[in-house]
Amino acid sequence: MGDPEKQPGPELERQTQKLRDHAVVRPQGGMPMRSSDLRSGEEAVVIGGSMAGLLAARVLADRFDRVTVIDRDRFPDGAKFRKGVPQSRHLHALLASGLQILEQLFPGLEAEWVAAGAVPIEWPRDMLVLTRRGWSDRFPTGIKILSASREFLEWGVRRRVAAFGNVRFLEGRDVTGLLADADRRRVEGLRIRARSSGGGPPAKATVTSFLGYASCYYAIPADFDADWRVLFLQADPAANARGGVLFPIEGNRWMVTLAGRGRDYPPTDEEGFLAFAGSLRSPLLHEAIRGAERLTPIHAYRQTDNQRRFYERLPRLPQRFLVIGDGVCAFNPLYGQGMTVAAQSALVLDRLLRERSNGALGDLPARFQREVARVSAAAWLMATGEDLRYPTTEGGERTLQLRLTHRYLDRVIGAAIRDKTVGLAFGKVAQLVAPPTTLFRPGILLRALLHGGARGTGAPPTTTGVSNRDRQRERHPPLADRRLPSG
Ligand SMILES: Cc1cc2nc3c(=O)[nH]c(=O)nc-3n(C[C@H](O)[C@H](O)[C@H](O)COP(=O)(O)OP(=O)(O)OC[C@H]3O[C@@H](n4cnc5c(N)ncnc54)[C@H](O)[C@@H]3O)c2cc1C
Repeated sequence: MGDPEKQPGPELERQTQKLRDHAVVRPQGGMPMRSSDLRSGEEAVVIGGSMAGLLAARVLADRFDRVTVIDRDRFPDGAKFRKGVPQSRHLHALLASGLQILEQLFPGLEAEWVAAGAVPIEWPRDMLVLTRRGWSDRFPTGIKILSASREFLEWGVRRRVAAFGNVRFLEGRDVTGLLADADRRRVEGLRIRARSSGGGPPAKATVTSFLGYASCYYAIPADFDADWRVLFLQADPAANARGGVLFPIEGNRWMVTLAGRGRDYPPTDEEGFLAFAGSLRSPLLHEAIRGAERLTPIHAYRQTDNQRRFYERLPRLPQRFLVIGDGVCAFNPLYGQGMTVAAQSALVLDRLLRERSNGALGDLPARFQREVARVSAAAWLMATGEDLRYPTTEGGERTLQLRLTHRYLDRVIGAAIRDKTVGLAFGKVAQLVAPPTTLFRPGILLRALLHGGARGTGAPPTTTGVSNRDRQRERHPPLADRRLPSG
């Protein structure tokens, strides 16, 4: 492609170099504004068409004439792997808050997904969870999550976003920098080959537990019958830093992810993988998969640091430039927060755009980064706080306050696995539906102090009397009858 500095990607450069002034958005009449209400000549550009970028595009599509999503990948037609999202080979739990927001942004999406094979899960009724305080009781809470592969989820969202007439995708374009105006205060366009910038990089915090994943898919054995759908064997900081998760996903498959902290990485060969599964705190996962047919190679993933970039603290934030998703805050994936925080951040963008119905977007970047920092803060505290229980974790501080919080949360978990009130409160926090402060309310505090000392049962609560086999069958018709929505 010649000298990239001199020949910066002709089409992209032409289309994006002069981002037209979008400070003139003037919604007409009531909200929400549809694309038909928009004035011409207003364009938003999204770099990266993964979850965060797609959700941002969805919100922007209500406000701008045109939304252009640029990605270095070419998007596959269907729920398939692509290089730009290597983590999609591993478990991707969509938390309850994330699911609610996606349904809000794309009405009917949940039903569409379930019809195509995604598995609805009620937390913790459908799950066998071994916490560090023992097995959790299983009771109905109405907290719904959806289990599907990451490729399936992203494809579903991409199709919905692509259905907006004013959204277009520029694929196979690698954005490498921003074009700033003369005083470097405003982003004027993008560069696809050479570096440029609108200011210095933000400060960054990293907390790493040196966690490694190894994941693969299995066919759910035809004779598998259990009254649970999800198996979640958590690590115990005091005893065994290994964990494992088995989730049913579309296509009558299990997604199995094994995880080890402190550089105790799970192997990717069959024998080693099974041996690692056998070393978890319960033999149940190993028993489930040892006779099952493995459908994919075992893939490893090790970039699991918690990383937060403090854009909100930059003294000079470039105008007309927002950062969302993992670019702001990436979490240890074990807690399943990334997609949900991206969805919550997209809602922040939606609200701020609505509030600026007069078209004055000058303060948008500063407000957005401040509010996204606030939205990410609770998940960040939970993920890093939990990681800091492990002596091998680096970064962050083990303050007295953190140690006291650990002790209190131990009691909350001890109570949550038995007491439905505490269980529901804890579930809402873990699913990012409620803020962690709700766990310090008097009613919860009292129950945690009174009941939190107990340990769960030694045996897994597998007998609720409801067979799962019929539900599985109903959920997963034979492969030939199953059709994913067409693209
Ligand atoms: C192993 C693992 C497991 C995870 N499990 C969960 C989970 O269970 N639940 C959950 O909610 N989250 C999970 N996450 C987090 C989740 O994947 C992310 O939070 C989510 O994908 C949102 O990230 P993003 O869209 O900001 O960035 P990414 O998903 O990383 O996507 C970045 C996109 O930008 C494109 N791109 C990158 N650079 C350029 C460039 N220069 N020019 C053009 N395009 C570019 C890439 O091709 C890609 O499409 C997990 C993450 C990992 C690593």
